[in-house]
Amino acid sequence: CGIVAYIGHREAYPIILKGLKRLEYRGYDSAGVALLNNGMKVYKKQGKVADLEETLIGKDLHSNIGIGHTRWATHGEPCDRNAHPHTSKNGKLSMIHNGIIENYAQIKGELIKKGYSFQSDTDTEVLLKFIEDIYVNNEGTLEEAVRIALKRVVGAYVIVLLDEDNPDTLIAARKGSPLVIGIGKGEHFLASDASPIIEYTKEVVYVNDYEVAIIRPDELILKNLGNEKITPFITKLDMEL
Ligand code: GLU
Repeated sequence: CGIVAYIGHREAYPIILKGLKRLEYRGYDSAGVALLNNGMKVYKKQGKVADLEETLIGKDLHSNIGIGHTRWATHGEPCDRNAHPHTSKNGKLSMIHNGIIENYAQIKGELIKKGYSFQSDTDTEVLLKFIEDIYVNNEGTLEEAVRIALKRVVGAYVIVLLDEDNPDTLIAARKGSPLVIGIGKGEHFLASDASPIIEYTKEVVYVNDYEVAIIRPDELILKNLGNEKITPFITKLDMEL
């Protein structure tokens, strides 16, 4: 399983697609991407990255921001419906996740009582709707909602969120699952390891557990769950392609 995301001035889809192929060695059962092209567009499919690619031939996939995922199912059988990205907020908010949310059943019960319904059988959709609920009710920022939600979460995760209402920002976080951010000129690359990033930049930040990243084309902000800023530690990759 793996995640890839891009924000900047290039076309996001080819970078994400190539990155997902580089992460194929990690194993997976489904793949998907979310892009902003006249609103949130989500494409996902059980099977290989190449199968997803084939169904997207000829589509207008123009976007300078996007998130991509390969899934190794833990909650919910492998199928198109359970593939990531998942969406909420009337389709305006999408999220990818690798890992497991251990206390998802309890949170899901609370959300169902509040009137939420679920399109998938995944723990991921529960976390996404939990974040949405906090985001909408607190009238704060998405980043704030992510931090509040993650304080409740037991489990392992790397998550990346794409919000149609904030089209110049990606929000990412991790605990237990890897997240590398590549720093370019007016662009950032996110991935599960450096292999999808190395051809674009040698400067990377390895995000630590319990850190939230707020990523814009020209800006990378790291915070802990207590809303304190952390100075990103930049590592120079010396790997060759
Ligand atoms: N637990 C999530 C799911 O079953 C994510 C699995 C993964 O790491 O790909 O959909």
